[in-house]
Amino acid sequence: MAKRIVEPFRIKMVENIRIPSREEREDALKKAGYNPFLLPSDAVYIDLLTDSGTNAMSDRQWAAMMTGDEAYAGSRNYYDLEKKVKELFDYNYVIPTHQGRGAENVLFPVLVNLKKKLGATNPVFISNFHFDTTAAHVELNGAKAINIVTEKAFDSETYDDWKGNFDIQKLNENIKKYGAENVAAIVSTVTCNSAGGQPVQMENLKQVYEIAKKHNIFVVMDSARFCENAYFIKERDPAYKNATIKDVILDMYKYADALTMSAKKDPLLNIGGMVCIKNDENIFTLARQRCVPMEGFVTYGGLTGRDMAAMVQGLEEGTGYDYLHYRIGQVKYLGDRLREAGIPIQYPTGGHAVFVDCKKLVPHIPGDQFPAQTVINNLYLESGVRAVEVGSFLLGRDPETGKQKHSDMEFMRLTIARRVYTNDHMDYIADSLIALKDKFSSMKGLDFEYEPPVLRHFTARLKPIK
Ligand SMILES: *Cc1c(COP(=O)(O)O)cnc(C)c1O
Repeated sequence: MAKRIVEPFRIKMVENIRIPSREEREDALKKAGYNPFLLPSDAVYIDLLTDSGTNAMSDRQWAAMMTGDEAYAGSRNYYDLEKKVKELFDYNYVIPTHQGRGAENVLFPVLVNLKKKLGATNPVFISNFHFDTTAAHVELNGAKAINIVTEKAFDSETYDDWKGNFDIQKLNENIKKYGAENVAAIVSTVTCNSAGGQPVQMENLKQVYEIAKKHNIFVVMDSARFCENAYFIKERDPAYKNATIKDVILDMYKYADALTMSAKKDPLLNIGGMVCIKNDENIFTLARQRCVPMEGFVTYGGLTGRDMAAMVQGLEEGTGYDYLHYRIGQVKYLGDRLREAGIPIQYPTGGHAVFVDCKKLVPHIPGDQFPAQTVINNLYLESGVRAVEVGSFLLGRDPETGKQKHSDMEFMRLTIARRVYTNDHMDYIADSLIALKDKFSSMKGLDFEYEPPVLRHFTARLKPIK
């Protein structure tokens, strides 16, 4: 039987929520163009759209906000953040940004331009898997985003400890194919969101870094869920059994030259991000030059002093073992309940979400009719629970041919906000999905009514196929 891990906190303030009626839900979904991104959150009971910016801050984070120093330049909180970054990652340089994509926008063009100066004509980024905004920033800079996650990630049924790993053979092949001079950076995404919040093994990070250094390629750690990745390493890699989470993190960051971070995930904030650079002063200077017009002056970069104060405290709490044990245990509890009921999920469960394998759940719906999005809409109608698609709908079209890209995975992501929902909410979600079991085989897919050219999943409107 699925095992509950007790919350390592008590609740000091509550936010009331209500379940809208079936009629309200039908009406809201229709108005939203069958795209849950367009639902008003008041029409949602339990929101599993994302773990991004949905965190519950602690009393200490709220208290830290009162210590914000709102100086335009040289805020005390910036220096506190710099100190925390040095402690956690041993990186020398920090640029705060408004969120993760701000960090990408500050750093990525610098990396592309540096490679072009050295003769790159056809720049590419290689990653275990580019997050959607990360891929967008790569493409906006005229580069190509190549994903080479291990094949094991596509086999949702077979247990593997490290489904977020790079396929090392493919890494070597791609460097050879495009030429090292064209690889603007390798992006190690921890955990690998698109593969199901799956962790990357320390040995894999190390191998990737060694290959990169052999070819003089810059490595960026895409660090939204670095604490969750560190927890998995501690639990699964015998070499780290007795290490603290912070020990693991220090080792992980030896295998990159810079990090981009969305602080809306593991650092337990509602907004925020940063670029940190290990020791390349030139890249730091160039990135800072971009920060000023894009984000803000270099010591606040789109954040307030109080945001940075909450980030410093959030980085401390996010790296706590008891918190991570509960956090990942809660996600696993939901996954185990679904598995016990025969609902196919990416197994084992990852750090921040349960990924339901809709290719298996509704095999009669082809990729270009968005099988996972179909299940998501039905779950919402059934229960008021809002989930999100990670599959063909998210992947989009090939920018060259305009054709729908083939997605190896069609996932419904049940994303768990940090410290927000209780284990009773997990039971409600599991019961609601299990209650749909008889309906899966008769569900019908979706087609576009309106399709935006970039990042279409956020604002597209759909219609059910008759
Ligand atoms: C969320 C996320 C980003 C982008 O961060 P935002 O704060 O949403 O702009 C980049 N990479 C990964 C892996 C993410 O999960």
